[in-house]
Amino acid sequence: MFSTLYQATGFKRALDLFEAGRFDEGRALLKSLQDEFLAVCDENQALKQQLAEVAEVLDLAEKVQFDGQKYWLEEDGERKGPFCQVCYDRDGLLVHLHRHENHWECQSCHGLYMLPHESEKSPQKKPRMRSTLEKTVPLFLEQEMG
Ligand SMILES: [Zn+2]
Repeated sequence: MFSTLYQATGFKRALDLFEAGRFDEGRALLKSLQDEFLAVCDENQALKQQLAEVAEVLDLAEKVQFDGQKYWLEEDGERKGPFCQVCYDRDGLLVHLHRHENHWECQSCHGLYMLPHESEKSPQKKPRMRSTLEKTVPLFLEQEMG
C-alpha cells in the first residue's frame, strides 16, 4: 500500500535531487516511484475485479431464496432448484440437489435434505388465542360538585 501523500513527497524529493545536480540518486528514486506506481495499478486492477465479482454475487443473492432448508433461484418468474445450502453458504456456489425417493442429495458435499412430509404441505391452522387485552377497564371519573 502506497499513499498518495507518500508518492507526492517522493516526486518532490526527486525534483529536489535533480535541482541539486544529484542525477543518479534522482533517477534511482524515479525508478522506485515507477515501480510503486505499477504496483498500485496492479492493485487497482485487482480491486476492480473483486468489485465486479461482489456485484455479481449481490445480484445473484437478490434472486436466491431460502426455504428454511435449501435454496431456490427465482429468475424471470421461474423457480429453479433446489440448491445445497451448505455449498452456497460456504462457497457461494449453487449446486443442484439430486432427488432420491425420500431425500435430496448434494453431489458436491454429499449433504442430505429430507423431502417435506405431506402433512407439512397443507397449511396449518393456528389455534386462536384469546386476547388478554379484551377485558374492559372501567374508568370512573368522580366529579366534586363545587
Ligand atoms: Zn453441498
